[in-house]
Amino acid sequence: LELPADTHLENSRRQVFNACFSYVTPKKTTRPELIHVAPEMLENLGISKEDSTSNLFLKVFSGNEIWPNTRPYAMCYGGHQFGNWAGQLGDGRAINLFEVAHEAKSWMLQLKGAGETPYSRSADGLAVLRSSIREYLCSEAMYHLGVPTTRALSLVLSGDRVLRDVMYDGNPTYEKGAIVCRVAPSFLRFGNYQIFAARQDVENLRTLVDYTIKHHFSHLGIPNKETYLKFFNEVTQRTLGMIIHWQRVGFVHGVMNTDNMSVLGLTIDYGPYGWLEGFDFGWTPNTTDSQYKRYRYGNQPNIGLWNLLQLANALYPLIEDAPALEAILNQYKVDFEDASLKMMREKLGLQVERTKDKLLVQDLEDILCLTETDMTIFFRCLGRFKKCNPHEGLPLIEEAFYTPKELSHEVKTRWSAWFEAYANRLLEESVSDEARAKGMNKVNPKYVLRNYMAQLAIDEADKGNYALIDELFQLLKYPYDEQYKQEKWFAKRPEWARHKVGCSM
Ligand code: AMP
Ligand code: MG
Ligand code: MG
Repeated sequence: LELPADTHLENSRRQVFNACFSYVTPKKTTRPELIHVAPEMLENLGISKEDSTSNLFLKVFSGNEIWPNTRPYAMCYGGHQFGNWAGQLGDGRAINLFEVAHEAKSWMLQLKGAGETPYSRSADGLAVLRSSIREYLCSEAMYHLGVPTTRALSLVLSGDRVLRDVMYDGNPTYEKGAIVCRVAPSFLRFGNYQIFAARQDVENLRTLVDYTIKHHFSHLGIPNKETYLKFFNEVTQRTLGMIIHWQRVGFVHGVMNTDNMSVLGLTIDYGPYGWLEGFDFGWTPNTTDSQYKRYRYGNQPNIGLWNLLQLANALYPLIEDAPALEAILNQYKVDFEDASLKMMREKLGLQVERTKDKLLVQDLEDILCLTETDMTIFFRCLGRFKKCNPHEGLPLIEEAFYTPKELSHEVKTRWSAWFEAYANRLLEESVSDEARAKGMNKVNPKYVLRNYMAQLAIDEADKGNYALIDELFQLLKYPYDEQYKQEKWFAKRPEWARHKVGCSM
């Protein structure tokens, strides 16, 4: 498609019917400045390092210049927000630029925060530096942790100020605007299908599902009823796998609305997410969800299922087989239990399977919840456990406790009993302590993007210093490795950061 150079595409806010997307023009920014670029992503896309420092790169990934013969567009989707159907709500601030095919892979490049689209409702389509740094760093960190995720190419300062409500004093304040270029094979979400089902627009629903299968699930075969069912089954499996990874590393998404669920099973939309510090099934980083805590750590698996049920409802008109859809959803529950236990076995370094493992895991989770115990530090330290020395278990993990001096006699007793049971269980394994530690260190990360770490990088960036962004970016490339010079990041959250969590805007 060729468009005249001066074409201005329609960004005005509206309900958009019978369309999967709308062509839009990204907003021009005043003084764009490249803060960071992800070298690995450059390579994936076939962009040279030199080109990434060019003026053209900056222009394209700040939205100031449209790549010749491409037509940026915003996607139309709806979603269930906090359990309620909310109609058409996205994408008000993400603009797809173009696809890049390189080395047998295809990537969609999308700007987040490049201005208004027809879907912006009452908001501005912009993103602030704070939330952009959080998305940029965390999505890449998740990738290196082995968690399916969208990725990031670049972080650009727009040079414009953005009006936002700042969380703690409630006063509107101007913040620096920024734009992240996100990258994924596709940004399609459950909500993209739901919007058509809600409008009883089966024709477009089918068009979109067929497109999705053709481009992203082609191994399932020619689109027909049977294939649609297989498609739903695969989305279910991928979602399950993604959430198991979240539970493994202690990631809490914070807004698992159906519009934030990728149909490819990728972690998407890094808003008010957070990392477990103290192990706590009831924890959520999202302060707007503090009453019901719908999206708390321990509820992510259930919400995954709830969201899949909504997707099943949306796909129903194409499949018309409720028992078959229900069977897939029921299987999710069974599979989740199995996968969860398997994941916990790996975290504990258990290779053979014993029925009693479930109890050992449950018991551990119960004890971890008794006192504030840092999840990352706990599992990492547990890797140094020696099966012949159960009495050395407790001192080994002591640095994971937030208030070690306040450990009650009862809690200590429970820990001793657990270490005793763990040591006995390890006697049934054939691997050496060293080999077990090595395996555990591949699933129990040493470094994660703790909330306060992102906050430090944000505070520095706000003053114009971007060195910490790069330091964390480099650190989180190797989350499972010992990085002796970076030992300072293997530390509990400092007290000042206790109640500070990120926010989404
Ligand atoms: P979220 O809860 O962050 O996933 O946001 C839900 C939807 O609200 C997104 O898909 C966007 O379409 C829209 N949205 C969020 N923030 C903005 C913004 N600053 N401007 C326009 N739309 C927004
Ligand atoms: Mg979203
Ligand atoms: Mg968001």
